[in-house]
Amino acid sequence: MAPLKAPLLELVGTLRDPAVDEPTLTEVHATGTDYWSASAPLAVAAFPYNRCEVWRCSRCRRGFLQYTEFGGYYVDHRLREIDPDLIV
Ligand SMILES: [Zn+2]
Repeated sequence: MAPLKAPLLELVGTLRDPAVDEPTLTEVHATGTDYWSASAPLAVAAFPYNRCEVWRCSRCRRGFLQYTEFGGYYVDHRLREIDPDLIV
């Protein structure tokens, strides 16, 4: 997936704590959810949300979280729309 960028998407900020070098890789889940679940909790202090940038659509104001994974041979941009009901 291509990275998000201006002008349609505005960078709002990051969920990464600048005081933490290596944010936890522990995930937080509800019953039956995994990394890819659309209904997984948005646990902002847990992986991968603790490494996400926050973006906003300048047109419809919806918010998105982007997690950029750096593999050995690739950079992968993972995207999730923010559902306020799922934030924990
Ligand atoms: Zn939009």
